Amino acid sequence: MTADLLKAKIRHVPDFPKPGILFYDITTLLRDPAGLGLALDAMAAPYTDAQVDLVVGMESRGFIFGAALADRLKAGFVPVRKPGKLPSRCLSVSYDLEYGSDSLEIHADAIEAGQRVLIVDDLLATGGTARATIDLVSGLGAEIVACAFLVELTFLKGRARLGTTPVHAVLPYD
Ligand code: AMP
Repeated sequence: MTADLLKAKIRHVPDFPKPGILFYDITTLLRDPAGLGLALDAMAAPYTDAQVDLVVGMESRGFIFGAALADRLKAGFVPVRKPGKLPSRCLSVSYDLEYGSDSLEIHADAIEAGQRVLIVDDLLATGGTARATIDLVSGLGAEIVACAFLVELTFLKGRARLGTTPVHAVLPYD
């Protein structure tokens, strides 16, 4: 089964980047040509007829899956980045972390009102990153088709923060 095969290619690294965190390392999947293809097939499948205009990917692993998915869906790609990285005028949003807060930015002219957008990242944990991205993208007047992830840590209940936005994750972990 595809899900088991994909799960077997993701490396779990305990205590990274700090004690108590189990890190889902997708580099071991990315370096496997068959695994990468299967992951992209599974992420793209629900959206092949969804008329997606743009895929928005979050720094930095969302760039890897997002750009490849955009190509498969015949859509464009728009990066959401950490502060100070994008060169032109930006829309910015702050969101809370466990300790402190962080911000994300998108170019203000990256999306036209009404464009159909698929938001893509490698992994849904607490949902803070995806929530902030939804706020950025809807701030530009886009129509959000869905949020797509390879991995979802369901026990962190990130989906609950994403409101009515449809969510699809290829590999849920309970
Ligand atoms: P969150 O905002 O809590 O949903 O976290 C999502 C972002 O943090 C994604 O871009 C993930 O790549 C990264 N992330 C969070 N937790 C993990 C984890 N346990 N393993 C790998 N990446 C993670």
